[in-house]
Amino acid sequence: MMPIHEKLMIQSVKAYAVALPLTKPIKMAHAVFETVENVIVRIESEDGFVGWGEAASAPSLTGETWQGMVSLIEGFIAPLMVGRDARLRSSLMSHIGAHIFGATGSISAVEMALIDLLGHRYNLPFAMLIGGMCRDHVEPMWILGNGSMEADLADAQFRHGKGYRSFKVKGGTQSIDQEIEATMRLRDVLGQDVKICIDANSGYDLAKARRYISATSAARVEFIEQPFPRQDIASLKALAADGSIPICADQSVHDIADIHLQSTCGVSGIALKLNKLGGVTAALHAASICEENGMKIIVAAKVAESSIASAAIMHLASVIPSVEWGVSLTHPYLAVDLVKQPLELKDGKSFLGNKPGLGIDVDMDNLDRYRIR
Ligand SMILES: [Mg+2]
Repeated sequence: MMPIHEKLMIQSVKAYAVALPLTKPIKMAHAVFETVENVIVRIESEDGFVGWGEAASAPSLTGETWQGMVSLIEGFIAPLMVGRDARLRSSLMSHIGAHIFGATGSISAVEMALIDLLGHRYNLPFAMLIGGMCRDHVEPMWILGNGSMEADLADAQFRHGKGYRSFKVKGGTQSIDQEIEATMRLRDVLGQDVKICIDANSGYDLAKARRYISATSAARVEFIEQPFPRQDIASLKALAADGSIPICADQSVHDIADIHLQSTCGVSGIALKLNKLGGVTAALHAASICEENGMKIIVAAKVAESSIASAAIMHLASVIPSVEWGVSLTHPYLAVDLVKQPLELKDGKSFLGNKPGLGIDVDMDNLDRYRIR
């Protein structure tokens, strides 16, 4: 641990793209994921401390490809950082923000690595550097995206046995009748004590959404996420006016202005993702705006980020006062993780621990093996 008055000069900022296989394909409306391409950021200080960050490339969500992210981070962001003092994190991120519009995934990964670096230098957990902890653990949800009812039911029962008590169904992947039946069966199989929500990933129209909601009312679906494409404001307002179920906005929310718009449309909450909002500072700002507007929050990693970004999500969720709609960690969907000890789940809980920074130890062999060159 080093004294705070000594400068922490940044020596290098590197970006690595990796292609990571999932344990099995995840089916969503409009997309099936089998392999993900993520970008890993490594920042090293002149005195040898290292911080790590990660963001999934998500062209349809953030407009960023892994090729573009690597190029932007190494060719454009690194020169803005190298030779500067990492302790001045806020002014450093403002300096970067003044030169780039958007690129929210790249900026999030860089900010994550910067905070992790500070954590290692000052021997503080990530959560301590981004605000006061409200809890020392999270209870993550499990995503059901197998593409068939039988597979989802078996998956849900297995994960329920592992301690999961909150489930998100990926909608818009089958006929609406099949999805209604699947939700009703899921409630039967899991019992009354678990939470069930549905994420339509823009895959419904107003008639389908209304039909699903009315036919599954006995299953007590907690909320419906992103029922419509973001431009379909009319359907969103109509569904919200029904008052039949709370609506969560995901793809429709990329910044604070989006949150205000969704709020005026009657949306009840948002999915907070680091790669979408542009990092921890922006996400915390968004969370406080939600609180002011009486909106709920789900804190989610992007499917599928490794234990590096999932750790950041866990720390972020630990400092947000209310995460009523839950937390989604995505490293369990990966067949390969990039850390030596992936985040664990014990009785449905993942604990932050007391290691510095993100609390992870990057597996350099896996980083090298799965790197896209
Ligand atoms: Mg979503």
